[in-house]
Amino acid sequence: MAKKIQAIRGMNDCLPTQSPLWQKLENTVKNVISAYGYNEVRMPIVEMTHLFSRAIGEVTDVVEKEMYTFEDRNGDSLTLRPEGTAGCVRSCIENSLINRDEQRLWYMGPMFRHERPQKGRYRQFHQCGVEVFGLEGPDVDAELIMMTARLWRELGIDKHVRLELNSIGSLEDRANYRTALIEFLEQHIDILDDDCKRRMHTNPLRVLDTKNPDVQAILGDAPRLSDYLGEESKEHFTGLCELLDAAGIEYTVNERLVRGLDYYNRTVFEWITESLGAQGTVCGGGRYDGLVEQLGGKATPAVGFAMGLERLVLMLETLELTDVRRSVDVYMVTAGEGTMLAGMKLAETLREQVPGLRVMSHFGGGNFKKQFKRADKVGAAVALVLGENEVADNTVVVKDLIGGTQDTLSQADVVAKLAELV
Ligand code: ATP
Ligand code: MG
Repeated sequence: MAKKIQAIRGMNDCLPTQSPLWQKLENTVKNVISAYGYNEVRMPIVEMTHLFSRAIGEVTDVVEKEMYTFEDRNGDSLTLRPEGTAGCVRSCIENSLINRDEQRLWYMGPMFRHERPQKGRYRQFHQCGVEVFGLEGPDVDAELIMMTARLWRELGIDKHVRLELNSIGSLEDRANYRTALIEFLEQHIDILDDDCKRRMHTNPLRVLDTKNPDVQAILGDAPRLSDYLGEESKEHFTGLCELLDAAGIEYTVNERLVRGLDYYNRTVFEWITESLGAQGTVCGGGRYDGLVEQLGGKATPAVGFAMGLERLVLMLETLELTDVRRSVDVYMVTAGEGTMLAGMKLAETLREQVPGLRVMSHFGGGNFKKQFKRADKVGAAVALVLGENEVADNTVVVKDLIGGTQDTLSQADVVAKLAELV
């Protein structure tokens, strides 16, 4: 036998047993976002490498060590997208979507990061992202958070996620803070690990969310970013908090929350769960008012978030919220001369007259027993049985596979009966 070829580490198939839950999640997400009037945008999966290094920042985990970068045949450096915001902004600028108008957009699809694969962390994973351009007030920040809160309710996981919120101010606020933070870190240099030392000058804010407990311990005494926020940033943040309070959305302000990508300013937030262990962030976002201009567009305020779909699926599984719609409602059983064709015709009629009904026809022959076994195996609720007699007098036997009862109905009456299954 030839040697088997395996999938790439950290890149998973979504198997037929798993896809119904994925579809349910994706549909719920789309419905919730659509309820706010947002439109879908679809970007390519590959972009020029410098789009990401410029947007996300050279000194970030993603750009330093997680990107799938390769040379195209013409020598261009290309990268499999590690996130969606950069490509979305690129597309909006390139297609003049945000010159005058505001835009409220969403996208969903695979992202790629070369990380160490583990539960909730993969090399190909899926995000749904929402981005709003052209609005600067805290009202839209609040709407995005309310949208996510609605989604958690719809999914039934709202009791298992909590919201952390922070304001990281303007670029200028952060520059002032940065100086103070570096000064503090220099005084504790002997406690910093190599990563933190390296970051201290290139991206000192990232030291704040280090996982090293020794460094965490000294950070309690570090200067606080909130003391460096300018008036406008403070007002924006207070405005957001008031809107969330009024909407009854609970949150904690986490002053250490800075997020991993460089483009954020003012509002940053994360939804975190305790039910997944270390990979607890299911959704993260914030404002990035400078990014459009930084990527060559006209200065445009912007805010967005992205959620990790694998982590949401894992949550649904952990919480046993895995009920999905049956993939087969009706199994068409046929035996005898001319019954196969009659069965296929009846199945087509049912698909037409009962929208949403899922009808599977039996193929490959075999006796009734074998066919009923198959009907059970695919999880059908009802088997329809057509033998030569039924075909001759235009009836069909309806066998309830759950209750076990059986009825003979005219083919016309069967439509009303099956409509109950949808
Ligand atoms: P983390 O701290 O877990 O590495 P991040 O800050 O790198 O997350 P973002 O870039 O903000 O993540 O992406 C938004 C969301 O996408 C995350 O909150 C998470 O749910 C999901 N996500 C990010 N990286 C991965 C991955 N490698 N595998 C699965 N999901 C991921
Ligand atoms: Mg990460």
